[in-house]
Amino acid sequence: MGGLLEFLQQPNVAAGAAALVLVGFVIAFLSFVRSGKARRARDEALTRERSVRHQFDAILSSARDGVLITAQTGEIVVLTDMAAQMIGVDREAALGKPLGRLPFKGVDEHMRPVLAHEAFAPGRDDARPRVIGVPGRRGEDDLRWVQVSCRTVADAVDGEPATITTIMDTTGLIEAAEALSREETQFRRAMENAPVGMALVDLEWRLMEVNRAFAELMGSTVSALKGTPFSALSHPHDLQAEREQLQRLYDGLQSRFSLEKRYVRSDGNVVWAVVDVALVRYAGGAPDHYVVQVRDSTDDRLNSELMAHRAMHDPLTGLANRTLMQDVLQRVLEQPDATQRVGVIAVDLDGFKGLNDRFGHATGDNALVHVAGVLRSATAGRGTVARIGGDEFVIVVQDTDASKALYEIAASIHAGLKRPLQVKRHQLTLHASLGVAIADEETIEGGAPGLLSAADAAMYRAKALGKSRTEVYEPSMRATSENQSALASELTEAIERGDLVLHYQPVMELATRTVVGYEALVRWQHPTRGLLLPGAFLGLLEDRKLATHLGIELVEQAAVFLTQCPSTSTWVSLNVSADQLGDSEFATSVLAAIGAHHLSPQRFVVELTEASLVAPNTRIRHELTELRNAGVPILLDDFGTGVSPLSYLRDLPVSGVKLDMSFVAGIPEDPAGARVSRALGALARELGLATIAEGIETESQAEFLARSGWRYGQGWLFGVAQPAAAVLGLGMEFTASLIEPRPQEHDNPFDLPPLRTPRT
Ligand code: C2E
Ligand code: CA
Ligand code: CA
Repeated sequence: MGGLLEFLQQPNVAAGAAALVLVGFVIAFLSFVRSGKARRARDEALTRERSVRHQFDAILSSARDGVLITAQTGEIVVLTDMAAQMIGVDREAALGKPLGRLPFKGVDEHMRPVLAHEAFAPGRDDARPRVIGVPGRRGEDDLRWVQVSCRTVADAVDGEPATITTIMDTTGLIEAAEALSREETQFRRAMENAPVGMALVDLEWRLMEVNRAFAELMGSTVSALKGTPFSALSHPHDLQAEREQLQRLYDGLQSRFSLEKRYVRSDGNVVWAVVDVALVRYAGGAPDHYVVQVRDSTDDRLNSELMAHRAMHDPLTGLANRTLMQDVLQRVLEQPDATQRVGVIAVDLDGFKGLNDRFGHATGDNALVHVAGVLRSATAGRGTVARIGGDEFVIVVQDTDASKALYEIAASIHAGLKRPLQVKRHQLTLHASLGVAIADEETIEGGAPGLLSAADAAMYRAKALGKSRTEVYEPSMRATSENQSALASELTEAIERGDLVLHYQPVMELATRTVVGYEALVRWQHPTRGLLLPGAFLGLLEDRKLATHLGIELVEQAAVFLTQCPSTSTWVSLNVSADQLGDSEFATSVLAAIGAHHLSPQRFVVELTEASLVAPNTRIRHELTELRNAGVPILLDDFGTGVSPLSYLRDLPVSGVKLDMSFVAGIPEDPAGARVSRALGALARELGLATIAEGIETESQAEFLARSGWRYGQGWLFGVAQPAAAVLGLGMEFTASLIEPRPQEHDNPFDLPPLRTPRT
C-alpha cells in the first residue's frame, strides 16, 4: 500500500491538474451567487444566475471528478452525481444531511475503516490528498480507490467558509501502476535468472545493476559489483577497443556493438567473452544508460584454438605435422645467423611395416606414440619435433651450437629407443635410422626443402649402411639419393612395361642331385643401367599398391614358366613380402593363375620371409591360410634369422623352411654355424616341414647339410638364377649356366608332409 500512496501523491498527475481547475471554477461560482444575493430581485441578475448555474451543473456533471461541498456546519451543500457514485451513496438522500450521518463505509490505505467526516474534511495538511477505499457493488472484494482532496474556502457560502472536496477515481491509475511494477518485477526476474550475463551500466560506464550470471562470469557477487567501474574488470589490452566502440555508440554512429574481449576475474584468471552493448536513450534522444549482455566465449575460443592446433599437429602423437614443421624451419632459416645454429634430423623407423603387419595397427600406433615420446625427451626443448608421415619424423633443431645439440639429440634417441615397448606378452625394441644435416651455405641454398632433403639423403645412407644408426650429411650423398628417387619414379612404368622379370635358380634334392624346383627371383632389366638385382629397387616400392601390383605380374610370369617346364612335378617358389599381402589380392591372383593354366596347386610355392611373419588373426595370416587351404605350399624364408617365437611356426600354415644362407656360409669351418644348421634341421623335421638350405657354394657345404638332415639345397654350386628361356634351353646361350635341367620324374617334396589344418 505504501507504494500505491507514493504513486498517487506524485506531482504532475494529470488528473490532479484537472481537479484544481474544477475547484477554481467552483470558487468562482460561489462568489457569483454571493454577489447575486446582494443585488436581490434583479431579473437580469437572476437570468445570469440561472445561466451560470446551468453551466456549473453541466461542468460538474460532465467532470470526471466528483465534487462535494460542505458548509461549516457539516451540512452537505453540493454533491455531484459523479461524487455520489464514487463514494457509493445516494445523492438525493445525502443532500442537506450533515456529513457525519452519511452512510459511508470506506477504508484507508491500511484497510482501516474511515468515517465520512474523517474522509471528506480537511486534515492538518490540506494540500495532501488522501486515498480512500470504497466498497463497490460486489462488496469489499470489489474495492475502488479514490483520491480525495479537501480545501477550505473562507466565506464561500453565505459569507461562511465551506469545504470543497474533489474526489477522483484512481482505480485505473493504480492498476496501471501495479502493472508497471509487475512488468518491472518480471524484467528484474528475467534478468536475474538469465543464463547470460546482463548489466545496466550508466553513462560513466559504472555498473548499476548486474545479474547473477554476470557476477559468476566475473568471479564476483552481484552486490560487490554494483557501482564499480565496468572497465576495472576489463583486460587492459582490450580497453582501447571497447572505449572506441562506446564512443561511436554515444555519438550515435551505431545503435549497438558486439565485441569479443577478455575480462580478468577476481581470482586473476582471464575469461573470454562476447559483449553486446546497446545504448538506451530518452524519448528526446539524449543517452540514458547502457544495456550490456556478456556471454562466456572461453570454450568457443579454446575450441577454435584447438582446431587451429589440429590443423598443425599430428592427431596420433600430438607432434607438429609436416606443414607446421616446414613453417618453423622456414622461419628459423630466415633469421640472420641461421648457419651453424639450425639443423635437421630425419628419423625413419626400421622395420616398422613388419611390426604393423605382425601385431596390427593398434600396436603400430602405440609404437609411434612411444617413439614420439622418445624424440620429445631427446630433443628436450631444443627444437620442434614433427611427424611427417607414417613412420617418418623430423626434428628441427635450433641451438647456439647446433652441431653439438644434433649429436646429443641423435645419441639420446638411439639410447631412448633401447628401452623396450611392452605389447601384450611381447617386448619390442624399436630401431631408427637417423640422417643429420646442419644449415650451411650449400644445404640452405634450396631453403627449407634443401636442408630437409640433405637430412633425408643422410638418413638413406644410414639405412643402406645397416640401419639403426646416424649418418651426417655430406654433399656426395645427394647424388645417391637423387639416383634413388629417379629410379623410384621409373619403377612404376617399368612394371607396366614388363621390364621386371623373374630369373629361376634351381633347387636340388641333395641326395640325388636332381632339380626338383626353382626359386623365382625378380630382376629389373633397366634400359640404361643394365640388370638390377632386387636389393637395388625393391626398397623403392614404398607404395603398397605398386608392390601388390608387381606381385600379381610376377605370379603370371611364374605360372607361365610352370606350364613350360618339361616335368609336371617341378615346382616354382615365388617370394612375397608382407607389403604384398593382406588384402587377398595376391592369393586371389595365385589361385586364378593356377586355374587358368591348369596347374596343380602344389607346384606353385610361396616363400615368405621370416621377418614378415604375422601374428595370428591378422589379415595376412588369413590370406596365407586361404592359399594353404587351396593346396599352395608356403615356405618360411631365411629360417633361423627371425625373432618370432617357434609357436608361430607351429601355428602358421607353413609347409617348409629355407635355412638362411648366413648359417651355410661358415660350414664346415665355423662350428657354431654347423651346430645351428643341424639343430634347425632337426627342429624342422620334427615339425614335419620340408627342409631347403640356401647359398650352397661348395661341395663340402652340400655334403654337410645333407648329412645334417637338409633334404634340398640351392646355391651357386648348382646354378645361379637364369632367365626362363635359358633354364628351359629355348635356344639361348648362357655360359654361366651350370645346370642342365633333366626331364625326370621325382616326388614333389610338398606331397610330404601332408597339408596340416591350420589352427585358428
Ligand atoms: P632370398 O629369397 O633369400 O633369395 C636368395 C638370394 O641369394 C638371391 O638374391 C640369390 O640370387 C642369392 N643367392 C643364390 N645362391 C647364392 C649363393 O650360393 N651364394 C650367395 N652369396 N647368394 C646366393 P637376390 O636375387 O638378390 O634376392 C635378394 C632378395 O630379394 C631375396 O632373398 C628375396 O628376399 C628378395 N626377392 C627376390 N625376388 C623377389 C620377388 O619376386 N618378390 C619379393 N617380394 N622379393 C624378392
Ligand atoms: Ca627366397
Ligand atoms: Ca633366403
